[in-house]
Amino acid sequence: MIIILSHKATDNNKNSVIDRLKKMGYKVDISEGKERTLIGAVGSNVENKNEVMAQFMSLPFVENVVPILKPYKMVSREIRERSVIKVRDGIEIGGKEIMLMAGPCAVEGEALMIECAHMLKAAGVKILRGGAYKPRTSPYSFQGYEEKGLKMLAKASEETGLAIITEVIQGRDVKKVANYADILQIGARNMQNFNLLKECGKVDKPVLLKRGLSATIEEWLLAAEYIVKEGNPKVMLCERGIRTFETYTRNTLDLNAVAAAKSLTHLPVVADPSHGTGRWELVSPMAKASVAAGADALIIEVHPRPEEAFSDGQQTLNFKHFKQMKKELKPVAAAVGRTLK
Ligand code: PEP
Ligand code: MN
Repeated sequence: MIIILSHKATDNNKNSVIDRLKKMGYKVDISEGKERTLIGAVGSNVENKNEVMAQFMSLPFVENVVPILKPYKMVSREIRERSVIKVRDGIEIGGKEIMLMAGPCAVEGEALMIECAHMLKAAGVKILRGGAYKPRTSPYSFQGYEEKGLKMLAKASEETGLAIITEVIQGRDVKKVANYADILQIGARNMQNFNLLKECGKVDKPVLLKRGLSATIEEWLLAAEYIVKEGNPKVMLCERGIRTFETYTRNTLDLNAVAAAKSLTHLPVVADPSHGTGRWELVSPMAKASVAAGADALIIEVHPRPEEAFSDGQQTLNFKHFKQMKKELKPVAAAVGRTLK
């Protein structure tokens, strides 16, 4: 349910409602608007929900009490307008500025990560990507340097100050990866790895949740709900392309999902035109389209020499093309009231 406090409600009134909800086993989300305060309450097993709603409704400082109709509750836009996720000082996702996360598909070595980090920093990027754990379709493909790779990312971050986003593929690795990463990435193949989702819900790190290869928008949002319900509200949704009948592109970047996720949830939405297309020459056009559709950030595969990349080279931009894309993105961002530095 959502309890809407009237403008007359005092802090004491608000706190008394929150305490009472928590005692009943509710998880509480407080959204302080300019005019009113909304208190979202979900997850309690109380049996007499209608009576509980009526009791809150009878309080003089409560304007209204309404049920949350969507199956995903804590991520629903019914309970708050927008979430802005702070990654580090000066790095916020979901605000006016469009954020870029860029780097190679896989962490391929310390020197390469440092080279990438310097080039990307010079191009204005604040978040470096790179997979140390690679969930590959084939067991014979490069599986990643694992913890050694995390250390390489940490070194590149130390040298340049860039924040790090990297994938975690199993629940028992979450705390370890969180020691090195600023943002935990949950890959498309793991969108419904519920143990992983719950473990990511227990750490105080932003999580980027990729949409599964064949997941509906509702399944994706319910996966996000798992993380938030566990106690971590810092979730961003990432559209990375879905399976369709089309084979010319690796996946079909579903821009409907970008716009839908923005209207259904308060979470920031990220687009991944690299995996969404599988072709480097389509990355820039689809990056622009994603920003026009409302994406708050983009995650882009970039490598100094894509033809030598250990994985996903055919969808990877070189630095020249990355810089060109960024130049072309600026007027698109401005046209939809955003900035891109
Ligand atoms: C990746 O970001 O390199 C990756 C493996 O992405 P996805 O999970 O979307 O396939
Ligand atoms: Mn990749």
